[in-house]
Amino acid sequence: MKLFDGHCDTLLGLMGNPKSGPLPVGSLYENELQVDLKRGLEMEAYAQTFALFGFREMGWNDIFDTLYSRFQAEAEACADHLRFCRSRTDALNAAKEGKAAAFLSIEGAEVIDCRPEKLEAAAEKGVRGFGVCWNRANKITGTSAQEPDRGLSEKGKTLVKLALELGLTVDVSHLSDPGFWDVEKLAKGPFIASHSNARAVHDHPRNLTDDMFRAIRDHGGTAGLNLYSLFLGEGEVTVETVLRHIDRFLDLGGEKTLAVGGDLDGCDRLPQGIRGVQDVHLIRDALAERGYEETLLDDIFYNNLLRVLPVQD
Ligand SMILES: [Zn+2]
Repeated sequence: MKLFDGHCDTLLGLMGNPKSGPLPVGSLYENELQVDLKRGLEMEAYAQTFALFGFREMGWNDIFDTLYSRFQAEAEACADHLRFCRSRTDALNAAKEGKAAAFLSIEGAEVIDCRPEKLEAAAEKGVRGFGVCWNRANKITGTSAQEPDRGLSEKGKTLVKLALELGLTVDVSHLSDPGFWDVEKLAKGPFIASHSNARAVHDHPRNLTDDMFRAIRDHGGTAGLNLYSLFLGEGEVTVETVLRHIDRFLDLGGEKTLAVGGDLDGCDRLPQGIRGVQDVHLIRDALAERGYEETLLDDIFYNNLLRVLPVQD
């Protein structure tokens, strides 16, 4: 199968995410985390968006620079297996070469200190996506987890507008509900929820309401299935649980909207039988077994995220 996964926290994992256990864990090419290129490249094609995310408490001087430098070093070390991508053409070329297509996305404006000039510099360096926040409320918005009634400040709106002007894909996962609708009003074209499930299936504020999903659909964006059990359901979570979220989004006309954003290496509990990127095919297999069309599955697992990208840089 071909996989385009729109969100993982593997870079942070390599640098010592408390959730990933003690270091050393290995390299981007091969490690003990939930994502590495070696496993990803077992598939026919593999594209992965890596989140640039970290905490102030990690003691890093500049969060963006620290993560970006680590990515650069990893990419250099495994240049035979990875192509740093900015566009659809890049991703397709990577697939032709048998390399993983690697994209970068900021997760939380605090990573760039909520500063426009740093967002511009990040775009210049090849970053493709801009997630407005993580769980913690930041200077420009409340989140689904903190200050959920607070939407984007004026400064926040300016930053999102700038991201759109720069051609970055704006990502609403983690945003407060009012923040979501602020972005929706600002975006003329596609925006995405890179790693968010269906609230109608599992009532968690990190998940999307039906109206939010429809809005993303109408903008031509994507919503990526998140494999963190916490966002999938209560009790024992299985591949069947994941399928319930898929069915909900498909019922809402999401054939071209639904994608994958596994949140791998950002979660400590996965559905039964899924250890990491090597097992994502189990979800596709289960859908195929139920008779879902191959073309629909190709769209969900690969094409839909590809479509949101600019054809060329
Ligand atoms: Zn996240």
